[in-house]
Amino acid sequence: MSSSPRVTSAAVPVSAQLFDRASSVIPGGVNSPVRAFRSVGGTPRFIASADGCTLVDADGNEYVDLVCSWGPMILGHAHPAVVDAVRRAASGGLSFGAPTEAEIELAEAIVRRVEPVERVRLVNSGTEATMSAVRLARGYTGRTKIIKFAGCYHGHVDALLADAGSGVATLGLPTSPGVTGAQAADTIVLPYNNLDAVAAAFAANPGEIACVITEAAAGNMGAVAPLPGFNAGLRALTTEHGALLIMDEVMTGFRVSGAGWFGREGVAGDLYTFGKVMSGGLPAAAFGGRAEIMNHLAPLGPVYQAGTLSGNPVAVAAGLATLRAADDDVYAALDRNAERLGALFGDALTAAGVGHQVQFAGNMVSVFFAERPVTDYAAAKASQTWRYPAFFHALLDGGVYAPPSAFEAWFVSAALDENAFDRIAAALPAAAHAAAAATPEGPRA
Ligand SMILES: *Cc1c(COP(=O)(O)O)cnc(C)c1O
Repeated sequence: MSSSPRVTSAAVPVSAQLFDRASSVIPGGVNSPVRAFRSVGGTPRFIASADGCTLVDADGNEYVDLVCSWGPMILGHAHPAVVDAVRRAASGGLSFGAPTEAEIELAEAIVRRVEPVERVRLVNSGTEATMSAVRLARGYTGRTKIIKFAGCYHGHVDALLADAGSGVATLGLPTSPGVTGAQAADTIVLPYNNLDAVAAAFAANPGEIACVITEAAAGNMGAVAPLPGFNAGLRALTTEHGALLIMDEVMTGFRVSGAGWFGREGVAGDLYTFGKVMSGGLPAAAFGGRAEIMNHLAPLGPVYQAGTLSGNPVAVAAGLATLRAADDDVYAALDRNAERLGALFGDALTAAGVGHQVQFAGNMVSVFFAERPVTDYAAAKASQTWRYPAFFHALLDGGVYAPPSAFEAWFVSAALDENAFDRIAAALPAAAHAAAAATPEGPRA
């Protein structure tokens, strides 16, 4: 196998060859669905390496990266401080199944930054974090039902897949086969940004709702910030009804400010979930909250939660190095870069005469082909998503790597430089015209 020639034909890109090969051993050729380009068409680019704001694919093509591994890479790729920390940690042993000092430092870094968080438990993925937080909320309150919002994605936890955003939205799935009626029955799905619906659900299920889980600012149906007062309203309603408020900051945490969305808005949740940035691109995540609640976890309390590789020293080193490097200058650069990107989108799409909304949730950005601002999942789905594949592919052809789905936020890094913005500005006019020329029948004729 290893002796098979890497390039068999100049006409077939290496990425396409790799995708073929991948598809014979990996379902759909990818290990996470949105990577497969199914909603935009074409062949996913296989990435060979990355540095700063640049991705290099298996054919040697370079792209300005506006996905950043779906959020984590705020410093850019292969940041020297992070790579050094990982190297040092790795040479000291990869996993012990026993506690280490660095885990305390990472937990302390999180507690220091996010005021409502007094205790933290490290896990391996955002999915695990939300699953554990919901279990803890149920164990703590002794109640079974949970409220989530349509278009919010909290990982692929059975009970949280109903009307989820991200890849579930990209593939147009209402939920997922394999999730039983029992698992879904205790999940109440409500429209995002609609406090009346939340109040009505509490009224209809007295004493039964364990928690409301929400993305602190939604990024998995595209960037849809909470309307003023929405999170505060959730805070008030959950308190009034004895339920917990879980702020899912897996995407926003340590990206939209040093204290995540909480740092921007100041509405305190009871429990928090983190991932992405806090592990610097390696697999680690966390959930945390008030000590009085978190102390219900084993070994202190009866709510079980565990992980063979939790607090892995290499992942913890990457996370710590990332948080240490993420100073005020980095957050200022992220905000500035997001604004600059949004302005370029607006200019190009306006010039091409295509109706659009450039939306921000902190420094996460989205383009919706819609006439009015998008505030919930129904509006996101009703937008002209059929324009997106043409927009996406013209950008890709122009050396700009955008999210391969109309339902995802775009992520900037602090590593974006003048060259990168020149490249984006050069690629956008053709992309905007392609979007304007697209039709519902044939987005990419
Ligand atoms: C990415 C994400 C998750 C899931 O994290 P994984 O590490 O992919 O399991 C959960 N919640 C939100 C808000 C996310 O953006």
